[in-house]
Amino acid sequence: MNITGEMLIGQSSVRGNEGTLRAINPANNEKIGPDFGAGGTAEVDRACILAQQAFDVYREITPEKRAQFLEEIANGILALGPTLIERAAQESGLPTARLEGERGRTVGQLRLFATVARAGNHLSATLDSALPDRTPPRSDLRLRKIALGPVAVFGASNFPLAFSVAGGDTAAALAAGCPVVVKTHNAHPGTSELVGRVIQQAVATCKLPEGVFSLIIGTGNEVGQALVSHPAIKAVGFTGSRQGGLALMRAAAQRREPIPVYAEMSSINPMFLLPHALAARASQIGSAFVDSLTMGVGQFCTNPGLVIGLAGEHLSQFQAAASTALQAKAAGTMLTPGIHSAYVAGIERMGAIAGVTTLGQGLPASAPCAAQATLFATDAATFLATEQLEDENFGPSSLIVACQNEEEMRAVAEHLAGQLTATLQLDNEDHALARKLLPTLERKAGRILVNGYPTGVEVSYAMVHGGPFPATSDSRSTSVGASAIDRFLRPVCYQDLPADLLPTAVQDGNPLGLTRLVDGNLIKA
Ligand code: NAP
Repeated sequence: MNITGEMLIGQSSVRGNEGTLRAINPANNEKIGPDFGAGGTAEVDRACILAQQAFDVYREITPEKRAQFLEEIANGILALGPTLIERAAQESGLPTARLEGERGRTVGQLRLFATVARAGNHLSATLDSALPDRTPPRSDLRLRKIALGPVAVFGASNFPLAFSVAGGDTAAALAAGCPVVVKTHNAHPGTSELVGRVIQQAVATCKLPEGVFSLIIGTGNEVGQALVSHPAIKAVGFTGSRQGGLALMRAAAQRREPIPVYAEMSSINPMFLLPHALAARASQIGSAFVDSLTMGVGQFCTNPGLVIGLAGEHLSQFQAAASTALQAKAAGTMLTPGIHSAYVAGIERMGAIAGVTTLGQGLPASAPCAAQATLFATDAATFLATEQLEDENFGPSSLIVACQNEEEMRAVAEHLAGQLTATLQLDNEDHALARKLLPTLERKAGRILVNGYPTGVEVSYAMVHGGPFPATSDSRSTSVGASAIDRFLRPVCYQDLPADLLPTAVQDGNPLGLTRLVDGNLIKA
C-alpha cells in the first residue's frame, strides 16, 4: 500500500491544499516523504456531514455485522505486515519490537470490541412490564442504549497504533455504532494513512455507508477546533497534553449544543513504598521501578513519576538501588522534537526548584531527540508547598518524596490531584496502613495496583484507564477496556410502543438473544 499524503473523506482520497507537512524521523531529525496536504474547515465539514448521513444506518446494523467490520479492520492491519511497522518506527523512533507489541494490542482491542458488540450487553436492554391494574397504572417501559452520534478522535503521539487512527477510542466508538472522524497526529501521518486506508477498505468490504470513517490532516489548531465545533459531532476522544485537552473542552462547551469530551491528559502515577515492603526489598523495588520508569523512554501515560516513602535507611537503600540502575540506562529517542524539548525544559525547571535535588541520571544523550532519564528527590514539606512538583514531565523522570511519618505520607496522598493509577508496594504487615490510604487513593485514581508497576495496561473487561482531573476530563469512564464503549452511548426509554415499532434489542421473544433485565431480573429470554 502506497502512502500518498491524502486525507480520506468517506471513500474518497482528497489532497488538502491548506499547507503541507512532512513526518520527521526523531532519531536523526530528517524529514520523511511524502508531503501531506493539510485540510481545512471545508474538508472537516464534508467528513462530518458524511458521518451524520451514515449515522442512522450504521447504528442499526446487526451486532454481528458490526463485529465483522471491526474484525475486518483488525485483519487489514495485520495484512499491512512490515510496511506498517517500518513506517511507524521511522515516524516515532519507537523500536520494532515495541511497535509489533502495540500492533498486537491494537488488533486485540478491535477484536475485544467485536466480542462486546456481538454479546450486546452494552445495550443495557431493560424491560419493565405494564401494570394496568396498579393505581396509578404503569406503562410498558423498555430501555436500550443507542449510539451518541459521530465522534471526533484525536490520535495520540505516544501510541501511533493503539491510541491512534484505529486505536481504543475509534474501536469503542465504532463498536457503539458511532461513525468516526479522526484528526491525525502530525507526528505519524504516514502510519495514520496506512491504517486509515485499511478502515476505509473495511467500510467498503462490509458495504457500510461511506461516512462511517474519515481521516483529516491539519496543521495548527484550526482543524481540530473546527472538528470539535462541528454540529454533526456528538462526542470527542482525545489523548495528549493537558493544554490541548482543556482547549478542546472549552471548544466543546462553547458550542450551541455542548458535547462530552473524553480527554486523557496528565498523570504522575504515584507509587507508595510502605515501610515493611521497603525494609524487606528496597533494592529490588528500586531497580524494578527504574525499568518501569525508563520503559518506552518514559512516554507512557502511566509512567511512575512520583514515589513516596518514609525517610530513613530503607528509603536510602531504595534511592541508591534506583540511582545505580538508572546509571546503566541508555538515553532513548523521544517521539518528536517538540516532546523532547518539553522534557529537557521540564528537567531544567525541576532541578532549579528550591528543596529538590538531582539524585541520579541515566547515560548522557547524544542523538538529537534522545532523553537522559533523571531522578529527583525532595521532602514531603517541600512537595506539599510547591505546586509545580505535581506537574507531569512527560518522559523518563521521577521525583522521590521522603515523608517523616505515616501521617505525612497520608497528607501527600490527600494532596494529590487526579491520577490514572496509584501503586502500593506492601507486605502483609503493611495492610493496616494500606487500609488507611485506600479510601484516599480510590478518590484520586482510576486503577490501584499492589506490588506491581503501572506501565503496561491490560485491555480487558475490568480495566480502568481513567481518573479524576487532570488525569482525564471525566472520571466516570475509561478509555481502555470493554467499558470504554459506554462513553459513546446514551439510554432511550420506549413507553407503550407497539410491538412492530420496537427496536429488536427490546422486542418480546428476545430476537437478539441478549441478557436483559426483565422486571428487575437479569435473564437471557
Ligand atoms: P498535544 O499537543 O496535546 O496534541 C494532541 C492533538 O491535539 C494533536 O492532534 C493536536 O493537533 C491537537 N491539539 C492540541 N491542542 C489543540 C488545540 N488547542 N486546539 C485543537 N487541537 C489541538 O499532544 P502531543 O503533541 O502528543 O504532545 C505534547 C505533550 O502532550 C507532551 O509533551 C506531553 O506532555 C503530553 N502528552 C501526554 C500524554 C499522556 O498520556 N499523558 C500523551 C501524549 C502527550 P495540532 O497540533 O495539529 O493542533
